[in-house]
Amino acid sequence: MKTTDLAIIIPCFNEEEILPKTIKKLSDLLSSLIKKELISKNSKLVFVNDGSKDNTWNIIEKEHKKNTFVKGISLSRNFGHQEALLAGLYTTKADCFITIDADLQDDINVIKDMIKQFDNGYEIVYGVRKKRTTDSFFKRNSALMFYKLMKLLGVELVSNHADFRLLSKRAVEAMSEFKEKNLFLRAVVPLVGFKSTNVYYDRKKREAGTTKYPLKKMILFALKGVSSFSAVPLHLITLSGVLISTLSFILMLWTIFAYFNHSTIVGWASLMSVITFFSGITILFMGIIGEYIASIFIEVKNRPLYIIDKNLD
Ligand code: UDP
Ligand code: MG
Repeated sequence: MKTTDLAIIIPCFNEEEILPKTIKKLSDLLSSLIKKELISKNSKLVFVNDGSKDNTWNIIEKEHKKNTFVKGISLSRNFGHQEALLAGLYTTKADCFITIDADLQDDINVIKDMIKQFDNGYEIVYGVRKKRTTDSFFKRNSALMFYKLMKLLGVELVSNHADFRLLSKRAVEAMSEFKEKNLFLRAVVPLVGFKSTNVYYDRKKREAGTTKYPLKKMILFALKGVSSFSAVPLHLITLSGVLISTLSFILMLWTIFAYFNHSTIVGWASLMSVITFFSGITILFMGIIGEYIASIFIEVKNRPLYIIDKNLD
C-alpha cells in the first residue's frame, strides 16, 4: 500500500530560541506517524527561513546534515509569513502539505487527525482553535471583530483558523492558480473549494522567543485582508454618492424656493446652489470611478474562472 508523502512547512523568522525544540518535537512526530504507517518514509519537515537575522538558518543547516527529515529553504530577505508559506508550498514536492508556525503554539497532536481526514478523502483540513483563553483580552476581541468585519464585507473566512492546515497536492496546485500578489491565504483557501473539514485543538502560549506579529503588523495584515478581498468599500462610495447627490438636489430646489419666497441674504442662494450641486456630483463621480476601479481590482487578480474537481472522460 502506498502511504502519503507528507511535507510539513514551517516558516521561521528569528526563531533561534525555539527552533531546536520544534525540530525535535516534529521529528519525533514524523517517526511515530511513519511507524503507524500513516505517512511514508519520504515525509519531511521543510523549514523556510524568512530572512532571519539570528542563527535560525545555521540551526536548520546543521540539523539538515544529521536529520534526514529536515529540509530547508532560505529566502533572500524577510518577505513575510504568507510569502514564506507559499515559498515552502510551491517549491516542495509531496502528496499533502501541513503548514504550522515555528513556535508550535498549534497542537501538533492533531496532525494525526488531519492525515486521517486526508485519507478519508478531504483535501483541505482546517485547524480550528477551540477557545482563545491563552490570548490577551485585546487579541481575542480584535480577532472577533475582524472576523465579523470580513463577513460583513462578503469575505468568507473560517473563524478561529489561522494558517495551521492540511492541503492536498491538488489543492496547492489549484491555489497556485490564484495569481494575485496580495495574498491573504486564509481567505484564498476557502475559494479553492474541494472537500474540506475542520479539526479542533487548544492553542498554547508561545514557549520561547517573542511574537513576530506585533500590533502594527496585525493591523497591516487586517487591512491587507480587507483591501485585497473586498470591493465593498468602493461600492459604498457609489451608494453614498447617489444618496448625497439626491439630498443635495433637494436642498438646491429648496434654496431656489427660499430665494423666491422669503428674502434671503444676497449671495446665499447662489452659493448654496453651487455648493450642493458640486458636492453631490463630486461624490457621485468618485463612485463611478470607484466602480471602474472595482472591476480593475477583480480583473487584475486574474483568479481562475473555475477549478475542476472530477472529470469523467
Ligand atoms: N514569520 C515569518 N515571517 C515574518 C513574521 C513571522 O516567517 O515576517 C513566522 C514566524 O517565525 C512564525 C509564524 O510566522 O513561525 C507566526 O508568527 P508568530 O508566532 O510570531 O505570530 P503569532 O502567533 O504571535 O500571531
Ligand atoms: Mg505564534
